[in-house]
Parts: sequence; C-alpha cells; structure tokens
Amino acid sequence: MSIISKDISKAITLLNNNELVAIPTETVYGLAGNIYSETAIKAIFNTKQRPLFNPLIVHIPNAEYLENVVSYIPEKARLLAEQFWPGPLTMVLPKKDVIPDIITAGKNTVAVRIPNHPVTLELLKTLDFPLAAPSANPFNRISPTTAQHVEDYFKDKIKMVLDGGTCKKGIESTIVGFENDEPILYRLGSIALEDIEAIVGKVPVKNKKENKPNAPGMLHKHYAPKTKTVLSNNIIKHVEKYIGKRIGVLSFRSKIENDGITSQIILSQTGDLSEAASNLYNSLHKLDNQKLDIIIVETLPDIGLGKSVNDRLQRAASQ
Ligand code: AMP
Ligand code: MG
Repeated sequence: MSIISKDISKAITLLNNNELVAIPTETVYGLAGNIYSETAIKAIFNTKQRPLFNPLIVHIPNAEYLENVVSYIPEKARLLAEQFWPGPLTMVLPKKDVIPDIITAGKNTVAVRIPNHPVTLELLKTLDFPLAAPSANPFNRISPTTAQHVEDYFKDKIKMVLDGGTCKKGIESTIVGFENDEPILYRLGSIALEDIEAIVGKVPVKNKKENKPNAPGMLHKHYAPKTKTVLSNNIIKHVEKYIGKRIGVLSFRSKIENDGITSQIILSQTGDLSEAASNLYNSLHKLDNQKLDIIIVETLPDIGLGKSVNDRLQRAASQ
C-alpha cells in the first residue's frame, strides 16, 4: 500500500509521536522529525545513512520564531530574512542552548530556514516544535522532487509522505553563514548568488569540495545517480567515445542529434535557468531508471542558477 497521503492531521500525529514524515518544500522533499526528539533525529540519520558529522537544517514557521533558536542575528541576516523568507535561503547563525548537539553536529551554530510551501507552513504553524528535515534521499543519492521519488526510496522505512505536489524550485536551498557579521556563501542553491549580493553586497563563496565539510551539500560526491555520470561541454565528442553503449544525454536547451544516443532529456527548451534547475533531479531520476551504461550531462551557462546546477552536476559526476 502507498505511504503517500495528503492528510496533514495524520502527519501531525506521527510527528508528535517521534515518528518521521517526508514533507514537501519548494526545494526538495525533506525527511522531517521533531528537533527535540532524540528518537526522531536518530531515525533521520539512520534512515538516510547520513554520517553524524553532517548537521541538519531546522525549519521554523515564521521569522519571529528565529529568536527561539538562535542567540544572535547580524543586521545583514535580518535584511536577507526580510527579502527571502519564506523561501530557499538557509542561514547559519549562533545557536541557543536549547538546540540539541546532534542537530548541529556539535557546532555552536545552527542552520535555519522557513520553507515556502503552503502545506509545510501549515504543518509548522500547528506543531509545538521546529522540524529538522534533510533531503528525503539515502545519503549521496539524487534528491527527491516528488512524493513518488520518496516512496521509491523509503517505502518500507517510513510511515508517510505528505504529498504537496512537485517541488517548484527543484534544487536545495542556498546556505549563507556569517563571519564577523559579514555573509559567506556555503552552498549554491535555489537563490542565485547574484540575488543575494543585490541585497547585501559582494559575498565570498566558500563551498570547496571537502570530505569533512561545513555543509553536507559540500561533500565532493553528492546528489549522484547510480549510473556512471559525466559532465561535458562537448556532448557529441563524449557520445562518440561511448558509442555502442546505452547512452543517456541530459541536455540544456537543444536536442543533440546523434543515432548513438539511447535516451535524451532537455532541461529547458527556452534556455530558462530556473526551469532547468526545477527539472534537474526529476530528469536524473528518469535517466537513472533506464538501465543506461552512462549519462552524459551538458554543462549550463555559469551564471545565476546555472552556477548552482553546475555545482550539483559536478558532484553527481564525481567519482
Ligand atoms: P540537506 O538538508 O541535506 O540539504 O543539508 C543540510 C544543509 O545545512 C547541509 O548542507 C548542512 O551542512 C547545512 N548546515 C546545517 N547546520 C550547519 C552549520 N551549523 N554550519 C554549516 N552548515 C550547516
Ligand atoms: Mg541532501
């Protein structure tokens, strides 16, 4: 029987009982639990097979709630919150003592955001606690952008996926931290770096590929299909290299004409970067399910959300 349901009151009951519920957001589906329940938080790490050194994002219902979880808010964090919340901006700020160490992987900072999805906002407003909700996929696999993706991953492991339709943004939140009150970009995401900089001025990027990162999304290999994946500026050349194999192509805006291609998906026929971002994971899921030998992915223009998508593709293609 399917675990997908639109029943918010059932989700509330489960969450109040230390159980996990997968929830819709505008970025990707999250695997949610009560941040104050040790049982629920341990279950998040176990279900995802996520290493404990990767801290979780805390989801809150409104900006006023921020004072309950963080001890200090720089002026530029207030400006960003005003501009982008509810929305796909996560801010890393000094934590209050009430936030359990397991949430922050022992750090004295906590990552917080207000998701912009009507169903999950209603859920958060009803609950007496914030939700930790990392992406609802096994560690290192492609993030889920539909309720069905989550069911395919976790049917036997969780009791419910709260169905809120397809995620509109389709890639993870942009993560901003602060050093000496100045913003630093830890993870490229659904809000373009240029849009953050329009509010607070130049923001340095510190999202180097590391093995013990500040943010899990910074791990070198992440967001990966099971199928071998390569990133390319010259698709035809790569297709010719693998000729005779079952080749999948994920192209940006134009169809690549070559008889050697088994299956092809175009991210945005109009060349729209935000449409490309929102189609990215769903397209990778589809190609990954076709028993291909290789997926060749076209690099996007390196501006705006193209930068965020290229970052995900580089990690997906990493060995
Ligand atoms: P996910 O929810 O799986 O997309 O990943 C959660 C993201 O929030 C990760 O990239 C985390 O590292 C980041 N994050 C959570 N807490 C912190 C923190 N205290 N410092 C830096 N990054 C954090
Ligand atoms: Mg994730």
